[in-house]
Amino acid sequence: MSTVNEIPLSRPDVTQLEIDAVSAVLRSGRLSIGPVQEQFEAQVGAACDRHYAIACSSGTVGLHMALLALGIGPGDEVITTPFSFIASSNAILYVGARPVFVDICPRSLNMDPARVEAAITPRTRAILAVETFGNPEHMDAYASIAARHEIPLIEDCCEALGCSHKGRPCGSFGRVGVFGFYPNKQITTGEGGMIVTDDKRLADLCRSLRSQGRPVPATPTGMGSASASAAVGMGGAGVAASGAGGAGTGSWLLHERLGYNYRLSEVHAALGVVQMKRLPEIIAKRQKVARAYMERLMTHGEIVLPSISPQSVMSWFVFVVRLASSYTREERDRVIAGMRRHEVGAGDYFPCIHLQPFYRERFGHAPGDFPIAESVSQRTIALPFYNDLRERDIDMVCQTLDLMIRRENLSRK
Ligand SMILES: *Cc1c(COP(=O)(O)O)cnc(C)c1O
Repeated sequence: MSTVNEIPLSRPDVTQLEIDAVSAVLRSGRLSIGPVQEQFEAQVGAACDRHYAIACSSGTVGLHMALLALGIGPGDEVITTPFSFIASSNAILYVGARPVFVDICPRSLNMDPARVEAAITPRTRAILAVETFGNPEHMDAYASIAARHEIPLIEDCCEALGCSHKGRPCGSFGRVGVFGFYPNKQITTGEGGMIVTDDKRLADLCRSLRSQGRPVPATPTGMGSASASAAVGMGGAGVAASGAGGAGTGSWLLHERLGYNYRLSEVHAALGVVQMKRLPEIIAKRQKVARAYMERLMTHGEIVLPSISPQSVMSWFVFVVRLASSYTREERDRVIAGMRRHEVGAGDYFPCIHLQPFYRERFGHAPGDFPIAESVSQRTIALPFYNDLRERDIDMVCQTLDLMIRRENLSRK
């Protein structure tokens, strides 16, 4: 349980504006498939220079649909990173393909471009790249490798909304990109995601997959003018029982392919619309907190800070430091536990995906397979990071971190 003094690892920034927007949707009577989702899609598409944006119920399902829409399936290989949140790799398993991991670059913590190129085989059907902790370095390199080998780049930009590299916004590097809006991301809808692309065929396929394989555009029965009540009942048996649907009145009960219900509700979209309007303010706040951490920890000899290319702009998903290479996983874990005992949130982002129990079992991975990712992963510490983190809390975090590191050093001797 949290107490008044606790400094949490993460905290969503929800203002009266979001509350008002959600209330307005609730009062409107139209809770799914409506204008608010369309507005949210237009905002995110514009923010990352993409023609099409398709809202969905999470980043994970966005990745699932992107892979399906690209026709990736059993027997196919997809090159990806072992140092990420597990969703980026799980999505590859959903479609029956095989994740082929490559080791990371110790500076950017993204896949090493040379290893990506070396891992390409005749079975490689895509590169699924993650901007780790939002760092967009090498995205242009992956895009050119993908182009050279005539395979698509899927950009898992779930951690990178508002970041850019060499002047290009994240979300614009891949054939398709996917954002996520879980509460610890730069902006949140509670749960939610967004697929972005310039490829109309891919966009239409994703829209169809999102909504039970319906043809695009599909208009829910009765969704013309005064459609509030009809919209609420959509997708249920009630629509069919009413005698509507079928060829004459639209295509709501026509299913061209196996689809899903991966839609985002209007309630969630309302949160997203306000958060997108506030994005410049949110990014400025996050950059300020990151700067404050950098200033305080810059001279600490035992801590490696995030290393950002001068050609990248960060919107900062999280603030993750790591202990120097002389530290073991056990020591790092004790530092984290000690910080938590002092009511300072800390996290071990990310344990390597290839060493998760079911990946080891299924693919026979073992420690040593990706030594850089493993070495980094066992020394990382995610520090409390959110928009309104106060200066004096940042001081407290840094002092507590330093204290715990000193303790480890004392017990070593
Ligand atoms: C957050 C995140 C996702 C998507 O997560 P959801 O909780 O499904 O929205 C996917 N990939 C990465 C790398 C992420 O950080």
